[in-house]
Amino acid sequence: MDYAATILSKLPGLPKRDNGVRRLVDTLSSYLSDEQLKTITAAYEFGADAHEGQTRKTGKPYITHPVAVAQELAEMHLDAQAITAAILHDTVEDTEASLEDITEKFGSEVALLVDGVSKLDQIQFRSRAEAQAESFRKMMMAMIEDIRVILVKLADRLHNMQTLGAMPAVKKKRIARETLDIYAPIANRLGINRLKIQLEDLGFKHLYPFRYRVLETALKKSKGSQRQIVKKISEEFSAALTEEGLVGEVIGREKHLYSIYRKMAEKKRLLSDVVDVYGFRIVVEDVNTCYQALGLVHGLYKPMPGRFKDYIAIPRVNGYQSLHTTLFGPKGLPLEVQIRTREMDRVAESGVASHWIYKADEKSDAKPQRRARDWLSKLDELQQSVSSEEFLESVKVDLFPDKIYVFTPKGDIMPLPKGATTVDFAYAVHTDVGNRCIAAKINRGLVPLRTQLQNSQTVEVITTRGAKPNPNWLTFVRTAKARTAIRQHMKNMRSSESTDLGKRLLDRSLKDLGSSLRKVGKVRMAAALEELGLNNTAELFEQVGLGERLAPLTARFLAELGEDNDSDETAASLVIAGTEGMVVSYAKCCYPIPGDDVMGYLTSGRGVVIHRNQCGNLSNFRKQPEKWISVSWENDIEREFTVAIQIDTRNKPGVLAEVAATIGDCGSNIEQVEVLGRHEDCSMLSFTLLVKDRVHLAKIMRNVKKMKNVIRVSRECA
Ligand code: MN
Repeated sequence: MDYAATILSKLPGLPKRDNGVRRLVDTLSSYLSDEQLKTITAAYEFGADAHEGQTRKTGKPYITHPVAVAQELAEMHLDAQAITAAILHDTVEDTEASLEDITEKFGSEVALLVDGVSKLDQIQFRSRAEAQAESFRKMMMAMIEDIRVILVKLADRLHNMQTLGAMPAVKKKRIARETLDIYAPIANRLGINRLKIQLEDLGFKHLYPFRYRVLETALKKSKGSQRQIVKKISEEFSAALTEEGLVGEVIGREKHLYSIYRKMAEKKRLLSDVVDVYGFRIVVEDVNTCYQALGLVHGLYKPMPGRFKDYIAIPRVNGYQSLHTTLFGPKGLPLEVQIRTREMDRVAESGVASHWIYKADEKSDAKPQRRARDWLSKLDELQQSVSSEEFLESVKVDLFPDKIYVFTPKGDIMPLPKGATTVDFAYAVHTDVGNRCIAAKINRGLVPLRTQLQNSQTVEVITTRGAKPNPNWLTFVRTAKARTAIRQHMKNMRSSESTDLGKRLLDRSLKDLGSSLRKVGKVRMAAALEELGLNNTAELFEQVGLGERLAPLTARFLAELGEDNDSDETAASLVIAGTEGMVVSYAKCCYPIPGDDVMGYLTSGRGVVIHRNQCGNLSNFRKQPEKWISVSWENDIEREFTVAIQIDTRNKPGVLAEVAATIGDCGSNIEQVEVLGRHEDCSMLSFTLLVKDRVHLAKIMRNVKKMKNVIRVSRECA
């Protein structure tokens, strides 16, 4: 009879209330001393008595829950105190037992652990930022004091997730989200892969039950055929290892559902692309063999370029070590191979928890422990110096390195990818907010829309009715949501704007010929459309508006069969109102503004580009006179235009700020400042400003010129 059985036989009334303790003692007896086992069985007795009469939502006796939690930790070979605390973790909170009882019977260290876990139990993560931040801080503090507290808590959460089926749906979803948002990332950060994977899959299952089922079914279907291939390739790898005289184990890896789901969601991949990837793990004895095995598999199948990662030389932040490579397998199927030592494999599974196995052996590869400790002591320092909100933000950056967290003015947290701008934020709030945003404030200060957000900033978006997305935004937005919404909007806009512009261009050209759209008439128009192979007038206008068809030529073509009236010579020009949207744009070489003498140049696909008459680029375009149209400004234009001026200043401290202030006082916004050149005692600066028109610009230039450190002001023109 083995020891576990002996112990169990001594427990009073055991068969009646086994509750999983037999298996637990069995697991523990492989690494704990008799003395320790005795304490643990005593804890079981204490707990079973305390929870007597209580049941779980599943109907089982309550004590099955703490025993299951202890079992999970036993499989990671946690020490006796942690196991004891796991068995007792709900006694103080839910039964008559007191912390004093526990201290007396099991010592103060166990009592401290139980107390820590009980405190964590009271923490619920709500949506409001502050409550969230404070709870989170408490949680991290408990973890810093003794990391075993969080390990018990994670195992507790895991078992609660496993038995979540009996809960009401709303509660299930809340717990599932919290698991995915907080607990799984902590498990990941501590490198405890086995907990992380289970927490993620269960969280996914309860948060998105339908998606989970669809994926599960699809995976099951593909598994049958996969197994054959995996078996065949595993054997091939094994044979190659043996042939080279290397000792190693080849394991076919199963993907977990949540990682498949995430790959599909984040990389926008099809299920088949994600699933038809075969995973293998080769576990060998030492580091040298890892690299030898790598060479071996690269010899069997061609490696995919750019996919090899050496996490042995450069471990991941949580201490994970392994070689990763992807091979072109039979029929081009991708084979993902991980190669590592037995020690690395254990660390990969249990992370910081792997410490307790070799507690006595200080020389063991303790990388994950050292990293966890470094991280925790950094957190400890941090929590002493910053507010709860700041603390939450910095910890979250550690837990989710690719994301930033910003606040709405109401204090809600909004997660965004790193590099996201205020426009991404606006679209994350709502598509309408994105479409109508015209300005943004970060921590109450106005910023350009393209500003990249930093963690924990408070962001406010200013919208106005009738505002439209700017196609330029596409050059800086980071999120798919923003990009898609802007593109969609542009598509709709482009078509209606170009139709409108095309109609005006055509009518103007017809007037040059003494005709007009009305004079051309329906009959001629229908005939012309047929000849051009177009379906309707809107299509014709759109092509003209986009510059795909030249207005003067089209006008001549339309007027051909109309009355030949060439008496009226006054060439009407296209009137620019500044509201045409993206079919009329303003050249960046000469920055025309209302009041300037301008010309329009028809480009193919981009509508009309307005240049100043004295623009240097004009001569290049002169070769194609048919593409030039005369344009003029409407009288009262409301919007602002970009313009560039060059200012030469004396090199005096603060002169740049003074110039900027003067420009601001004149009611203009500075978009950009560039230093064009710098001499011993003077600098040439280029300012890009927003102005209403020539009068406005003249006023600014006059005021800047009056400043005592300004030598010269001129309007730039390429
Ligand atoms: Mn519990």
